[in-house]
Amino acid sequence: MLASRMIGLLPPLTDHEALETAVVQSVSHAGMNPETWSQRPFHAPHHTASAVALVGGGQPPGPGEISLAHNGVLFLDELPEFNRAVLESLREPLESGTIRISRAGHQAEFPARFQLIAAMNPCPCGHAGNPSGNCRCTPDQIHRYRNRLSGPLLDRIDMHVELPPISYDELAIDQPPTETSQQVAIRVATTQQRQIARGNKLNAHLGTREIELHCQTETAGQQLLATAVDKLGLSARAYHRILKLARTIADLDNQSTIAERHLAEAIGFRVLDRHRH
Ligand SMILES: [Zn+2]
Repeated sequence: MLASRMIGLLPPLTDHEALETAVVQSVSHAGMNPETWSQRPFHAPHHTASAVALVGGGQPPGPGEISLAHNGVLFLDELPEFNRAVLESLREPLESGTIRISRAGHQAEFPARFQLIAAMNPCPCGHAGNPSGNCRCTPDQIHRYRNRLSGPLLDRIDMHVELPPISYDELAIDQPPTETSQQVAIRVATTQQRQIARGNKLNAHLGTREIELHCQTETAGQQLLATAVDKLGLSARAYHRILKLARTIADLDNQSTIAERHLAEAIGFRVLDRHRH
């Protein structure tokens, strides 16, 4: 439910984005649906989805879910249940924003710049860490379950967030929202405009050179980052992604330089890196 709400927090599609999304739809199996014109796509394929359905293919090659989610959100529920080879094929598009498909005699390239949101249980039964103590999974079972996600795939997921179980009482109490979706959407739009004014693109799409240019950090922040890289054994890719995320947190805070607290928050989102070591 939370993942599907993400669309409402993002700015409306630009005309260019709306056209790109419509073009991908028009060459897909289902064709273009005029009713969805200018709507940010949200796609949530089931974990039994084949590689062709997810990343594209066929004869002649057509776009898969990752391309149909271009400029929108791709939600993968129960991430470890997906076929491992299918998950690994997400690595290229998560890095480049495009997918190249080669089949005998046919080659095709489709755009695939999507916001990936994925969900998983803490263990096969879903109860690990729950104070009720109902989890009967062995440490070995939990380890194997989490290891279905490769290090290189996790590297490309910027934020890992643990959601503790909610009690019935918490669900039942009707609390007024502290902030409406509309207010958050305005903050997101303002932050994105700030990023485009500075780097001519969103922080998520900055290359290595651009990161050096735009992601300057305070000295204390550099030390914190160096410690985190050592302790968590982070890859160069994870390091760059933490810098970009810290840049975005600083942008939300309207700060021109990345402060130590911004980096600390960005590092705090690498929960699954901590579990791996
Ligand atoms: Zn369990």
